[in-house]
Amino acid sequence: MTTGSTEKSARVFFALWPSDAERAALAAWQPALHKLCGGRIIRANTLHNTLVFLGNVETDRLEALRLAAREVGGKAFQLPFVAARYWGHNRIVYAAPGSVPPPLALLVRDLEQRLSAHRFAFDQRPYQPHVTLLRNAKWGDAPLPGMREVRWQVKDFELVQSAPDEGGANYRVLARFPLRFP
Ligand code: ATP
Ligand code: MG
Repeated sequence: MTTGSTEKSARVFFALWPSDAERAALAAWQPALHKLCGGRIIRANTLHNTLVFLGNVETDRLEALRLAAREVGGKAFQLPFVAARYWGHNRIVYAAPGSVPPPLALLVRDLEQRLSAHRFAFDQRPYQPHVTLLRNAKWGDAPLPGMREVRWQVKDFELVQSAPDEGGANYRVLARFPLRFP
């Protein structure tokens, strides 16, 4: 596995990385939300749902990280995004599922367990599934308008490298891990 650079470490996270059609459907929410809330529209080709954030990992540990993720035995599932919501503390507008599907909660738990078993450190904050749509947005407590439901068919999860540049986030999918069909 290559990271495309000679850096000694890579900023990495695990995510659900949708298909082009799935990301286009969520991107269709953005113009109306941007009109209301302002801020910066996240590029459609970078929309994702972070599962576990590790931050900097030494590049010579990335292969071990990939093997650890291969030990995860999750099932494929559907993830319906039903509402746009706002977090005031970080000024993000995001797409939220109505609830966390049990196979998703199990996937995150299993992944965290495998990472811990292999001595990888990661951010421990409780998992709240969301897809960031706008950053630096402004909104109050009122509900945002209703959006057309977008259903992701989650068949795999991804290891992603983040290498932000002046244009904003820049992500590379380093590896894909298939989920099994029930
Ligand atoms: P930028 O930081 O340049 O604005 P970004 O936040 O998209 O862009 P990263 O900071 O590399 O890029 O984050 C990658 C992903 O991991 C994003 O989905 C981000 O929300 C999430 N993330 C970042 N830091 C943490 C953290 N400490 N805990 C959990 N998730 C995080
Ligand atoms: Mg960030």
